[in-house]
Formats: sequence, C-alpha cells, structure tokens
Amino acid sequence: MNSTNGGSSNRTLRCSFCGREKPRQVKELIAGPGVYICPDCVALCNQILQQKGEGPSYQSLGYKHLCLQTDDVDADVARLKAAGVKITTEPFDTQINSRIAFFEDPDGIMLELWQDLR
Ligand SMILES: [Zn+2]
Repeated sequence: MNSTNGGSSNRTLRCSFCGREKPRQVKELIAGPGVYICPDCVALCNQILQQKGEGPSYQSLGYKHLCLQTDDVDADVARLKAAGVKITTEPFDTQINSRIAFFEDPDGIMLELWQDLR
C-alpha cells in the first residue's frame, strides 16, 4: 500500500468507496491494487468493524433503523454527544448528495440523521 499524499502528480484520483476526488475533496488517498481509499472511509470501516458483534450495522439487510431528516447533521450530533448519546457512526457525506450519521436511542434502537446536501 502506498499513500499518495506526497506525490507530485496532478492526476485526479478518486476514493473507490465514496467517490470523492483528490485533491479537490480529500487531501489523501491510500492506494491498494487498483483501488484507493480516503481517511474518512477508513474511519467508517473501523467503526463498522468495531460494531461487529454489538448488533446490526446500518448496512445489513432488513428493518434495522429509523431515519430522521434534519437541516444540520453535525449540529444535531454535537447536541446528542453533549447529552451523552452514543454516536455509532460519525457524520459523513454519501455518494448521493446527503450527509448522514447514526446513533442509538436509550433502548439501543438505531436511528439515522439524514441531511439533503443538494
Ligand atoms: Zn472515501
């Protein structure tokens, strides 16, 4: 694996997972054989792996969570954290022009915050 951070190439590279471009949208990409991943996607993968065995991931199939629309995911997450709520997936931008985050209610029910970025 190689980091592309120090390269002198101006070629546009994309994260193979979220599709964001270096250098316009991400500062760094880690290269694997034919793929690239950005630090945000690495963090998301780590969160998913940490959740393994602690209940369903939002990416598993079936009725697993409720989604709540908001105008500011980051502000809501800050308020939830201040109130001691467990944030299971930190806010991140999706490939479909939205920003999302996940948290648990007091009964462990997974809830999603969804913000339209269009
Ligand atoms: Zn990415």
